[in-house]
Amino acid sequence: DEHLRASDPEIFSAVHDELRRERSSIELIASENFVSLAVMEAVGSPLTNKYAEGLPAKRYYGGCWAVDEVENLARDRACQLFDAGFSNVQPHSGAQANYAALAALAKPGDTIMGMALDNGGHLTHGSPANFSGKLYQVVSYGVDQKTERIDYDTVAELANKHHPKVIIAGASAYPRTIDFERFAQIAHDVDAYLIVDMAHIAGLVATGRHPSPIPYADVVTTTTHKTLRGPRGGLILANDPDLAKRLNSSVFPGTQGGPLEHVIAGKAVALKEALAPSFADYTDAVLVNARALGRGMESRGLRLVSGGTDNHLLLVDLTPAGDVTGKDAEHALDATGITVNKNTIPGETRSPFVTSGIRVGSAAVTTRGFTEAECERVGELIGAVVSSPANEELAERTRLEVRELLEGHPLYPELG
Ligand code: PLP
Repeated sequence: DEHLRASDPEIFSAVHDELRRERSSIELIASENFVSLAVMEAVGSPLTNKYAEGLPAKRYYGGCWAVDEVENLARDRACQLFDAGFSNVQPHSGAQANYAALAALAKPGDTIMGMALDNGGHLTHGSPANFSGKLYQVVSYGVDQKTERIDYDTVAELANKHHPKVIIAGASAYPRTIDFERFAQIAHDVDAYLIVDMAHIAGLVATGRHPSPIPYADVVTTTTHKTLRGPRGGLILANDPDLAKRLNSSVFPGTQGGPLEHVIAGKAVALKEALAPSFADYTDAVLVNARALGRGMESRGLRLVSGGTDNHLLLVDLTPAGDVTGKDAEHALDATGITVNKNTIPGETRSPFVTSGIRVGSAAVTTRGFTEAECERVGELIGAVVSSPANEELAERTRLEVRELLEGHPLYPELG
C-alpha cells in the first residue's frame, strides 16, 4: 500500500488504525468476520474501474469480457454452493438484496410479514424506519415470551388473518434453528411468497450445518460477509425461472445501477473458499465456539436467551448480572479489548440505544483460530466484567489476559 501512503497519508493512517483495532480486540460482533487476503486482493483490484450494467453477455457497456468471466464464476459458484437454480450476485449489500427481492414480489401498499426488529428481525423486514416499513403494510411476528423461540402457530394465525403478499423469515439476532419448511407451508397456505433472508447463517447453510431454505423458499437473500466470510455485499438465490427473470430486473434496472465487479470478484473467491472441505471444518468450529462462549457466560451467572444456541450467535440477558444495561456492558467490555454489541432482548423494557442485552458471535474469533477452551474462557471474562463494570482492577487484569489470548492468534501477519 505504498501508493496510498504517498498520495493520501490521512486515509492510509485510518486504514492502519483499523487494522490495529482489528488485531487488538476479541471480535465478537455476530455479523462480522475476517476475509482472506485473496478476497481482499480481489476487492482492491482494477475491476473497480469497470461499468457493467446488465448481466454477463447482455451488458449495456462494451469491454465486459473479463468482468463477464468474473460474474459468471461468482454466479455458478453461488448456485453450486447452495444447490440453487439461479443466483444474482449484484446486490451491493444485504439491504439492497432485500429491497430488490421485495420489489420483485410485492407492490407498494401490499402487506408483508416479517420478524420484529426488537425480537431479532432486521430493519429491512418491515421496520417503520426503513423502506420496507414505508412502502408496505407491515404485520410483525416475534418470539414467544416464554420459550423465546418463534411460535409457528402464531405466525400461521397472523398469516391467515392478514393474507400477506410476502412473508420474510430470517433474523439478525436469533440463536435458534429456523424451520424454513414450516414457514413455506404457512406462506403457501395463504398464497404468499416466502423470502428467506439467511444473512447471518449463510455459512452454516452452505455446509449443511443449518437446514437449507433453498428447497422451500421462493427467494433466498443473504449478505456475503457474515458466516460466509466474504466481502461486504449481498446475493439472491431462487429456483423458479420466472421469478429469476423478475429478480434480475428488480436488481437492475429496478433498484441498482452498475454492479461492483471488484466486490463480485471477492464474492467469487469467498464462494470458492466455502466450497472447499476446510470450510465445513471452520463452520463446525464456529458452532463449537459459540456453545463454549455460552457455557463461559452462564458459569458467571448470565442468562442466554432461549437457553442456548444452535448457531453462531448468542443473545445474552444481562438482567441477572446486577441489571447492567447493554450499553454499559458494551462500553465496559470495549475497555478490556472485547468487542460486542448491545442488543434488545425479547420483552425489552429499555430503548434500543440502551437495551438489557448483548449479542455475541463466534464467526470472527473462529477465523482467527480461537479454540473451544479459549472461547469458554472469553465467556467467563465477559460474565465477570459485565457483573462488575466499575471494577478497575478486574478490567486491568482482563485487558492483560485478552492481550495474551490475541497474541496467540495473530491476525493478518502477512500484512506486516
Ligand atoms: N439481513 C439480515 C438478517 C442482517 O442481519 C443484515 C445485516 O446485519 C442485513 C440483512 C443487511 O445487510 P447489509 O448491512 O449488508 O445491508
